[in-house]
Amino acid sequence: MTATSRRIVLAARPTGMVDDTTTRLEEVDVPEPGPGQAVVQVGWLSIDPTIRTWMDDAPGYLPPIELDAVIRSGAIGEVVASATDRYAVGDTVFGMMGWQDHAVIDEGESAAQVLPPGVDPTLAMSVLGVTGMTAYFGLLDVGQPKEGDTVVVSGAAGATGSVVGQIAKLEGAGKVVGIAGGPEKCAWLVDELGFDAAIDYKAGPVGPKLRELCPDGIDVYFDNVGGEILDACLANLALRARVVCCGAISAYNGRADSPGLKNYFSLITRRARMEGFLILDYTARFPEAQGDLLTWVLEGKVKHSVHVVDGLEHAPEALNLLFTGGNTGKVIVRL
Ligand code: NAP
Repeated sequence: MTATSRRIVLAARPTGMVDDTTTRLEEVDVPEPGPGQAVVQVGWLSIDPTIRTWMDDAPGYLPPIELDAVIRSGAIGEVVASATDRYAVGDTVFGMMGWQDHAVIDEGESAAQVLPPGVDPTLAMSVLGVTGMTAYFGLLDVGQPKEGDTVVVSGAAGATGSVVGQIAKLEGAGKVVGIAGGPEKCAWLVDELGFDAAIDYKAGPVGPKLRELCPDGIDVYFDNVGGEILDACLANLALRARVVCCGAISAYNGRADSPGLKNYFSLITRRARMEGFLILDYTARFPEAQGDLLTWVLEGKVKHSVHVVDGLEHAPEALNLLFTGGNTGKVIVRL
């Protein structure tokens, strides 16, 4: 009897949250590796907001996921069959293997990366993975914080934002303010992660709180959410501020409805810079960030939270957590 493998494909393009009309769980035969290929038993899925953007039929930095194709995502798994010297059976690998029990990888350059033996998959997918790298390079390279700066980060209790705020403190920021949804997340940022203050954007308008907490203006704003929160930060910039455009999650579930910015002209009056970046451009420099972040994690200077969801079939719900704010820290699905 042939063993079967499950996978989740894009059944239709969502207009809002994903559900069982837009995704479909299928069973297929476990693949065999062809020449130059290996088969991976996927163990962990990285759940990232950008997956939702790949479901739209819209131009992006990667092509849209095709209808009926496996949902693309980063994943960690173990090589269970190999017909290439590049991967040995038993290797733990990270790559874009998607929402499926078994993935075929090939020996091409960008296929998958072999991880060191014994690596903690949750750490490799969070602080030492894409979100940690995004926090590190987005803040330090694009934001260029200076000693004593006031740094504000939105999506602050998420995988990226929570690391941004802690790095900012370690790099000598004078004040770090996080913006997050709900009193529990705000308390976590201040009490556990050492942020100086947190604003619960669900409790009222952000602008007046920013003016109160940042009387001299914001020197670095790390934007994970876009929309009204970005606009409120633009209205409160310090002279020569840097606005780091990392993500715009408030717009991913209904792009057409996104409000425009009213306060962009602050960039002129405050002689500020607003710059987007993609972490894909920094892959060659990951080892330098991983070295710093691992040291800080081991020294207890960078803390992190992981939100693990069990079961491939729950991957769509896990993705939706990012948009409802049901997560604190990195969302990962364990297969
Ligand atoms: P995350 O922050 O762990 O999760 C997303 C968080 O966004 C949620 O927990 C939620 O927290 C918040 N959120 C959702 N909808 C919101 C809204 N309408 N307004 C305000 N906050 C909202 O996710 P992540 O993986 O670390 O990604 C964070 C951002 O970084 C995303 O925009 C992502 O696309 C971006 N990113 C960019 C790059 C790059 O290369 N540029 C790489 C990785 C990630 P609350 O409970 O606080 O609302």
